[in-house]
Amino acid sequence: MRHLILSDMHGNHEAFQAVLRHTRPETFDRVLVLGDLVGYGAAPNEVVEAVRGMTNLTLVRGNHDKVVAGIDEGENFNQVALAAARWSARALRDENLAYVADLPQGPCDVAPGLAICHGSPIDEDTYVFSDYDAFEIFSAYDRPLTFFGHTHVPSVFSVDQQGIEVRALRGEGSLRLERGTRYLINPGSIGQPRDRDPRAAFMTYDDAEQLVSWHRLAYPIAAAQRRILDAGLPPVLAERLAVGV
Ligand code: ZN
Repeated sequence: MRHLILSDMHGNHEAFQAVLRHTRPETFDRVLVLGDLVGYGAAPNEVVEAVRGMTNLTLVRGNHDKVVAGIDEGENFNQVALAAARWSARALRDENLAYVADLPQGPCDVAPGLAICHGSPIDEDTYVFSDYDAFEIFSAYDRPLTFFGHTHVPSVFSVDQQGIEVRALRGEGSLRLERGTRYLINPGSIGQPRDRDPRAAFMTYDDAEQLVSWHRLAYPIAAAQRRILDAGLPPVLAERLAVGV
């Protein structure tokens, strides 16, 4: 089975459209969406409707989805994130807001040995940045392969008899998964990359080949920025897209 892995679109229609046109999700056996469809970007309806139109989809909610839907108050959000979440809640059409509110909580099993979550499989709102963060998860959660989002940083954490290895992924590449090693893998963010590469990030996974590949795609950033400024959202949300932070 070939999987397309998409995360953290954050209402960035221009980035998401570019990825969908390039990858053609309908040509994959399964699409995995790791949450944060909305928040930050100025096109929440377009992104939600594109996800709603997908088939063979397994998805989980993100922390921004929860705040936009009113499931979470967002008391740990900064002012910019909170302002964008409130704007998104007002902007979303009723049926799209209902879809966001109904997104399932992770972790979610996709197939035997394969799971997805937003932050961590232990807590959907927790960030996995360090080897110690990964150690805590590997000690408590036994799936061989889990894809997660939330940090917006493409990365691979693996554990075998020798210990934990961390790889921050740059550009494009691929990794053949080893039997007996367990993995936590982050595809990075489509709508708001934070690894100083402003291109949209996503992954593909072929389970027959045991091959995970990471990809970057340039998209019309200026159009996404213009939409944010026109919406009256905080300008920093437009500025950061150009530098990938
Ligand atoms: Zn996010």
